[in-house]
Amino acid sequence: MKALVKKELGFGNLEIVDVEEPEVGKDQVKILVKYSGICGTDIHTYEGHYKVKAPVILGHEFSGEIVEVGENVTEFKPGDRVTSETTFYICGECIYCQTGDYNLCSSRKGLGTQQNGSFAKYVIARKESVHKLPEQVDYVSAAMTEPLACAHHAVTKATIKEGDVVVVLGPGPIGLLVAQVVKTYGATVIVTGLSTDKLRLEKAKELGIDYAVNIQQEDINHVVKSLTDGYGADVVFECAGAVSAVNMGLDLLKKKGQFIQVGIFAKSEIPINSEKIIQKEITMIGSRSQKPADWEPALALMNEKKVNAKALVTHQFTIDQWDEAYRVIKNGEAIKVLLTPID
Ligand SMILES: [Zn+2]
Ligand SMILES: [Zn+2]
Repeated sequence: MKALVKKELGFGNLEIVDVEEPEVGKDQVKILVKYSGICGTDIHTYEGHYKVKAPVILGHEFSGEIVEVGENVTEFKPGDRVTSETTFYICGECIYCQTGDYNLCSSRKGLGTQQNGSFAKYVIARKESVHKLPEQVDYVSAAMTEPLACAHHAVTKATIKEGDVVVVLGPGPIGLLVAQVVKTYGATVIVTGLSTDKLRLEKAKELGIDYAVNIQQEDINHVVKSLTDGYGADVVFECAGAVSAVNMGLDLLKKKGQFIQVGIFAKSEIPINSEKIIQKEITMIGSRSQKPADWEPALALMNEKKVNAKALVTHQFTIDQWDEAYRVIKNGEAIKVLLTPID
């Protein structure tokens, strides 16, 4: 089968390769991939600043149909419409595995990074990671389950009450999903972006987000202060991975506010205003990926039409059109791009 393979670390080195069709193990299922989303981490991997076990087939946000199940699998059958968690291997013994926090297991191996992923015709998943699609969730939406699970995970890190004012910094796919999940809590949500994010800010409004602010044109400080009697925002989600956004977020928060870091920075060490954290008694929390407990809620949010993940999909390409997909992501034309396999 044809697969999009990261052949070696470093910039680029991503090629369509003819590989053996994978065989299903006894506790695994074989999935015919329908759609597979390009994640920010795939872009980082392509550009060489995210480490994967090369060579590996990239792709970890996917939907598909089960075509074969292993001998120990009774929960699924060929024809089932599914998506899968990215977890392919965990130790099962560490304190994080004991509590289902697989995203924190040091031995975890994920699809599309350490194990062959979904930018191919078929992908193998372990049965424990697989979820059947609810009736109202189509294959395009289902390919958004993983990023939505990440958004759900981030939102559960905060305590959000009805009427809270929440700022989401960065209107990328994760930011727009976080904003939609926060809306379900009855909060007032402000999404921020730059002039280059025009399309994304328009999408935020289309999705019913209360305010979409271009911080190069509007005074965000004024917007937040006017909505909060001058106190500042209750919660900030940083979904941009930008140093300037972090410091802006610390500025916009009220005293005792909650800051959730979701975006990944190009460099791991960044200058932040620690004084703000101390003097305002800000709670700062990191959110990494997603865990099993985020998946059924993510599917339910789409099934009940509380989150419109499909609306973020602006482009579809086949896996051999990577260069074009990369181009529309980098130049800001796209919000979410899905790839489909080729024969
Ligand atoms: Zn992802
Ligand atoms: Zn573990």
